[in-house]
Amino acid sequence: MGQLFAVEVIYRGVFQKTLAKNITRDIVLAAHNEGKLGISFGRYGDAPERNGIPAKSFAIVANDELTLEAGMAQYEPKQVDLTLVLDDTLCKGGESWAWYGLQPVHHALKPGHTLIVISLEDAPTLLKSIHRREEPYKLGIMKGITSFSGMWVFKDDHTDVRVLGAIAKALPEVFSLKSVEQFINEKLKSAAKVTSARNAFERFTTVPVKAGQGNPEVPFAFEKPGWEDMRSAVSIKGQPQGGPYPDPATGKVGGFRPARNELFKKYSTRTLRPVINFSTCTKCTLCWLNCPDASFDVTPEGTYDANLEACCGCGVCEEVCPVKDCVHMVNESEFHDNKSQWEAFRNDKDAYLKWLESTIEKAEPIEKRSHGFRYRGQYAEQVPEALEIAKKG
Ligand code: SF4
Ligand code: SF4
Repeated sequence: MGQLFAVEVIYRGVFQKTLAKNITRDIVLAAHNEGKLGISFGRYGDAPERNGIPAKSFAIVANDELTLEAGMAQYEPKQVDLTLVLDDTLCKGGESWAWYGLQPVHHALKPGHTLIVISLEDAPTLLKSIHRREEPYKLGIMKGITSFSGMWVFKDDHTDVRVLGAIAKALPEVFSLKSVEQFINEKLKSAAKVTSARNAFERFTTVPVKAGQGNPEVPFAFEKPGWEDMRSAVSIKGQPQGGPYPDPATGKVGGFRPARNELFKKYSTRTLRPVINFSTCTKCTLCWLNCPDASFDVTPEGTYDANLEACCGCGVCEEVCPVKDCVHMVNESEFHDNKSQWEAFRNDKDAYLKWLESTIEKAEPIEKRSHGFRYRGQYAEQVPEALEIAKKG
């Protein structure tokens, strides 16, 4: 048996699907220039693939046919030689199909290997989100905005070839920079892309991450009954209705918190989250009525609290709220827990409003957003900036 290499690309469903597919395809084609064989394939984070859902694409490369066939005989690689994350908010982990709970982003990475994240943040900031693990690894940050390159709007920002340059540095056993350049010249026919790949290769560095370093939170997990634990006959678990809950400031019980699926948390889909000013909320109910995921709890005082275990970050509540500056969508990487905002507000109103003021400074313009990821046209506006990063690093 020869050598087998696996690369995993973790991306946001739909928005980054084409980019992920192109990257894994191009890995195979660049490796082909060195006489290696490979296959690229994708699978959903859930099915069917939805906007923003964490999803994965793979490239498997081998130096002979038999090894490749043996590697392909798996549903997906159990261990990978390199993991690439296309959106840094995914560093919090993803709920993956065929996995029970939240899967840390380096779950399949071999010890000592490289995790590449595309981000404008630095390593200490990303490690606040990336879970701890027992084995050390290397973290490489490829500077860049979250790319939609290759989507139907097709705004090319060179992320695909920059990634190839970084992989040539991080995993030279798969292909060299020369093979990447040959692939770009022959297939993409772009001298500018060759330069971007070369720049990425030269600038790419990693920092060592020690065993135990990172986000100490234990990722959400649950046991699913196996075949032998199945109960006889067909039974469907009844769903509780939910009910009122206490106000932490007064102890008064009221409002309504619906019971939600204990096993499926949607928060790993989120790239933005709503931040709510409960002191200006008029209790108009519009956010609660329009939230497509029934994510709002009715608080005992009659305001509406986005339950952050359930919210998928679509941004509809911000759009429908009639009160100026009452709901703001803020980048998910600013937060490190899913605690109730309303409870924080009730426990210390002044501190909450101070926190809110500093947090919403990081919000994006409300009037332009069309969905939970970006506002319409924002990506097109950001492409020149991304190309500038590709040039200068
Ligand atoms: S962002 Fe979307 S899912 Fe989250 S609370 Fe607002 S409307 Fe509901
Ligand atoms: S839409 Fe705005 S004002 Fe109306 S209940 Fe929701 S947060 Fe309050």
